[in-house]
Amino acid sequence: MASIRARLALGYGAALLGTLVAFSAALYFARSASADQDLAVEAVEEADHVLRVVRAYATQERPAVDFRPVNGRFVTSITQGMAMELDRHSGYFFVFGRDDLTLYVSPPLRILRVVDPDSYNELIDAARSLISEGQGIRISLDDEASGGSRSMLFAMRREASSGSLIARVVAGVPTSAAELASRLLIGTVIAVVPVVVILSMLVAYWFAGRALGPVEEIINDVEAISDGRSLHRRLVTGVEADELSRLTMTLNAMFARLEHSFGALRRFTADASHELKTPLAVLRADVERAMNPATSPTERLVALEEALAEITRTSDLVDSLLTLARADEGRFDIVREPVDLAPLVREVFETATLLGEGAELEVNLTAVEEGTVLGDASRIRQLLLNLVTNAIKYTPAGGRVDVSLARRPQHLEIVFSVRDTGIGIAAGDLPHIFERFWRADQARSRRPIPPQSGLVDRGGSGLGLAISQWIAQAHGGSLSVQSRLGRGSVFTVTLPTTAVS
Ligand code: ADP
Repeated sequence: MASIRARLALGYGAALLGTLVAFSAALYFARSASADQDLAVEAVEEADHVLRVVRAYATQERPAVDFRPVNGRFVTSITQGMAMELDRHSGYFFVFGRDDLTLYVSPPLRILRVVDPDSYNELIDAARSLISEGQGIRISLDDEASGGSRSMLFAMRREASSGSLIARVVAGVPTSAAELASRLLIGTVIAVVPVVVILSMLVAYWFAGRALGPVEEIINDVEAISDGRSLHRRLVTGVEADELSRLTMTLNAMFARLEHSFGALRRFTADASHELKTPLAVLRADVERAMNPATSPTERLVALEEALAEITRTSDLVDSLLTLARADEGRFDIVREPVDLAPLVREVFETATLLGEGAELEVNLTAVEEGTVLGDASRIRQLLLNLVTNAIKYTPAGGRVDVSLARRPQHLEIVFSVRDTGIGIAAGDLPHIFERFWRADQARSRRPIPPQSGLVDRGGSGLGLAISQWIAQAHGGSLSVQSRLGRGSVFTVTLPTTAVS
């Protein structure tokens, strides 16, 4: 496949060639048409000239035509004097009398009559066929003298004055001179056009090279960047606002997105491995402890219980990872059925009360309004529970957690919010809390979930809020947070309600 540069030059050459050929053809036809007109004028002038000669010669004493009896019939013929006068003329012409009688044939035609009688006969027949004034005809002749090439005559006739025995004059002019110009034109075109086209293609090739030069640079730069390790680099954008500048800007934007995604992927993989490594190490220690013959049966049981808790935590983590991976791929099908939110919130509130008791917190349900959402009940429960357990986890004893469900009928929305008086989140941390595996300063104490709550304390993996946000968005809603360090936080879930709710 030829390069774009070569294809552009070829395309340009083809277009130019087509244009030049069309232009030359138009010029040739225009030239031929005007040549025919010129010849017609010339032939008419020639015939007029002959008529003038005849008129100038013919007087009472010098008649141009004789009319005398021969063998009992009257025969019209041109007088010798008139013939001699006309012989001095070198053009091609016939002088016809009444009844198409040929009175005079000019010397060049007389020669033609001898050397090529067929052409001569053809010519005189054509000349006779011209019957109205000013009419013209092209006659092709086989010119044997010039090796079979065809010479042309253009004939015109003029009526002689009425009453005269000379009826008309038909004069011809050779077309070769007029055709020479057309032939020269064709010759010039054939000689010049290829040179012009080749030169133009070379120029076009050079220009295309210049115009596409930056593309070559972009390709090299993109190759250097896209090896994966240089995604931080960017292409240099040209100063002109042309297509190439737009291309570099688009590629730069793509690299920025790729860099972001690659970074996130790398962090995610590193975090996931790290998160899995710790429970596996604990598990290994527990199993080793249980297998040790020196371990007492009670200790062995404790070790196995710990191992079980780690297994639960790990499988939970793997579940969360799987959920997010499927969500990323768009493979997670959310069930769409009407979910009555009020009972769900009351249920979550009961769990929160239980958790709150163990944590010495006051848990309130400040409002519960009715509202139906189209979605997946178990996923929505997971979302609400995540927020409530977080509020309890991150609120010190003596604090308060308020849960509410309020409708915004004018917006066809329902809002679930969890307000706590806990440790809050620093302003600098707020943009990150929905990121996967993100957790605020590990040194900050996190309340363990009391065993009597029935909930397993999964130790926190930093995936809860990421999954919660995905659930809210998958239902066409959103999850937002307002928080101040040391003052508490408010997590708000907004979900669209069905029209009937
Ligand atoms: P984790 O399992 O660590 O709780 P999450 O994704 O649920 O993971 O939360 C991410 C981080 O956001 C937490 O580690 C915590 O630092 C912060 N966070 C979440 N909820 C609250 C809250 N109610 N108050 C203070 N910080 C919170």
